[in-house]
Amino acid sequence: MQHTPDSLWLEILETLGESAFNDIYLRQVSPRSLNKASFNVAVPSDYTQDELENRYLSDITKVLSDRISSDCALEISVDASLAKVPETEKNEHTSEDNTPEVTGLNPNYVFDNFCVGQSNRICHATAYAASKDLGGEYNPLFIYGGVGLGKTHLLHAIGNCVQHESPNRKVLYVTSETFMNEYIDSILNRTSAQGFRSKYRKADLLLIDDIQFLQRKEGTQEEFFNTFNDLYLNSNQIVMTSDRSPSMLENLEERLSSRFEWGMVAEIDKPNFELRLMILKRKCEDQGFDNIPDEVLHYVAEIVTANIRELEGTLVSLKARASLLDEELSIDLARSVLNDTSTPTKERSRRRAVTPVTIQKLVAEHFQLKNGDLISAKRTKVLVYPRQIAMYLCRELTQLSLADIAEAFNRQNHRTITYACEQVEELLEDDETQKVIQLLIDELT
Ligand code: ADP
Ligand code: MG
Repeated sequence: MQHTPDSLWLEILETLGESAFNDIYLRQVSPRSLNKASFNVAVPSDYTQDELENRYLSDITKVLSDRISSDCALEISVDASLAKVPETEKNEHTSEDNTPEVTGLNPNYVFDNFCVGQSNRICHATAYAASKDLGGEYNPLFIYGGVGLGKTHLLHAIGNCVQHESPNRKVLYVTSETFMNEYIDSILNRTSAQGFRSKYRKADLLLIDDIQFLQRKEGTQEEFFNTFNDLYLNSNQIVMTSDRSPSMLENLEERLSSRFEWGMVAEIDKPNFELRLMILKRKCEDQGFDNIPDEVLHYVAEIVTANIRELEGTLVSLKARASLLDEELSIDLARSVLNDTSTPTKERSRRRAVTPVTIQKLVAEHFQLKNGDLISAKRTKVLVYPRQIAMYLCRELTQLSLADIAEAFNRQNHRTITYACEQVEELLEDDETQKVIQLLIDELT
């Protein structure tokens, strides 16, 4: 294989091990030229030169003799202009071409309107940190998780934040599909190959969405690999999203997917009840949906559990339905809309119909209790048994987590729910409880 100074330097870093990429001295090295007898690199100061020689000379020489020839020597020269490279270079970029940059960013996706909960806390924190320290500890940053959980939102938020705070930095957001299309256009000479390369390689921050799309696209992978290396070696920040973790990406070259793990890999998970409710409330504020009763928001947060896009969509369509009918958005309207036939699958509509609220209502009716008794703190005997049955039914008939069910009963501790379920399971031995449960299940489904 023919080496360029850059590709050789990359191989050296790889051979030295993962930590080499974050080593403060190695990161200052700029590969310059290469021939059989010498590999010339520049560093910003005498001090770095000394440290580099003391720490790495013998290791690097070994790699050179393996890869180039046994008498290829490392030559380190000092180039003081390197010390200021990042800033001057970055300012020059923008002053040299004063056409407005097309960043691809959506200004509505910012950190400010991204609600944080348990399921996305780490992703949010690393994304935020990366935006404050481009090319730093979290480079590259790899965010993965299911559909509609906020990956794209976070990606744009990083871009908007950087653009806002350092307008001189070049920020570029693309989906990996766009990347591929532009790459193919450049090969087919529809656009200039030079233009394509420099567009991507000049970015201080490259945000690339849905990287799983590159699976099986070998040519584009190769090009992305080169872009990645180039940006990385220049300490430019790369942030990627994917619907699965790097190790689960199939038909993606190992050398590429393993690079994705160099910096930080963060998973975004499904939101819990509290986060779903928080997002709905936030959405109401942003859209100016006032006077939607809490009851309705709770109901929506209870039944739309899998995906934030769907959660928002449900709220918007309920609101639209209410104004179409010229009615207030009441809990009854919400129930009737969400149980109607427009729900995609039978399975889902069945699941949707059964919520803690419907269960509590039915159980309360059955035992002739007052509305609210089941979720009260009262622990009288007449209440404990029905309450445990209601908790058990929630566990059996909904997809909700223990924590969500506890919340629906105003309980702090989800062990209350586990305990209730155990109690009911024991009681199922006797005919009376069995009959009651069967009757209620029939009613509910
Ligand atoms: P993904 O890229 O993971 O499929 P998106 O980023 O497109 O998901 O998110 C889907 C929708 O949900 C967007 O409208 C986004 O603004 C919203 N959203 C996702 N997560 C949050 C959150 N934590 N707070 C507020 N809105 C969110
Ligand atoms: Mg997305």
